[in-house]
Amino acid sequence: MRRSADGGPATTPEGRGSAPSPWPDHLYDAYVFDMDGTIYLGDQLLPGARRLVLELRERGIPVRFLSNNPTRDPSQYAEKLRALGIATPISEIANTVVTMTRWLRTHHPGATVFPIAEQPLIDSFREAGIPMSDDPAAIDVVVASYDRSFDYRKLQIAFDALWFHRRAILVATNPDPFCPFPGGRGEPDCAAVVAAIEACTGAKCQMVVGKPNPVMLEEAIGDLRLDPRRCLVVGDRLSTDIRMAARAHMASAMPLTGESTREDVAALDPSDRPTYVLDRVDRLLPAALWRECGWAETD
Ligand SMILES: [Mg+2]
Repeated sequence: MRRSADGGPATTPEGRGSAPSPWPDHLYDAYVFDMDGTIYLGDQLLPGARRLVLELRERGIPVRFLSNNPTRDPSQYAEKLRALGIATPISEIANTVVTMTRWLRTHHPGATVFPIAEQPLIDSFREAGIPMSDDPAAIDVVVASYDRSFDYRKLQIAFDALWFHRRAILVATNPDPFCPFPGGRGEPDCAAVVAAIEACTGAKCQMVVGKPNPVMLEEAIGDLRLDPRRCLVVGDRLSTDIRMAARAHMASAMPLTGESTREDVAALDPSDRPTYVLDRVDRLLPAALWRECGWAETD
């Protein structure tokens, strides 16, 4: 990539020469990172992600990680980050396993839940003492999630609880239609499960706890007692990461290493656009600090 005089990008990463996105010219008080498509893609660390996180920590700036994906619990994310050279305490990672468990305990204490879910979410419910059942006559809350073991049996139980017995409500972990994979591929996500249940029951999902719901931010940075306007949300998805930041009146940065593109940004109303669009996530460190750190784009 060609560079401008101040060290910022002179062209888009595709080299088409459209207007560059501004780099942040200052550091924020805390950073909330999405993981898939932002820090890594599949099992590959994305360029600059590791050194950025380590540099922010070196400067004493809190870093938190946030994912909509409920197929892992925070300890599994901690293990994945550690394997990629970004060792992180479990307390600095939150995902929809955490937020859905907390939401149920707060808003539906004692309710009997039918989780359409993989093991980490079920284990979290069990550890939290949330009653679970697959008896449609006993179910108060059907929890839809990203569940790669979703099948007709589970759909029938949800149908009976919602449509026949008419006693349950439908809620979901996250609104994502698919999970992005390397090579432009993907895998159906929670929205597909919700759509199947809504289609046959006529029920409407009443709560989605994942991004863009700002409840995720409370989980991530609520303990820091910082002014959210001085914190930055970083994520690759406009419909979740960037929308959550906008709802919370926070600044946001979108690396072009995941799902959303510059064209997607351009199609949005200006008030819905991310504050920064970056070809690589380590552009979050201001250009002057790149020079101070001696960083090059080949790293
Ligand atoms: Mg992502």
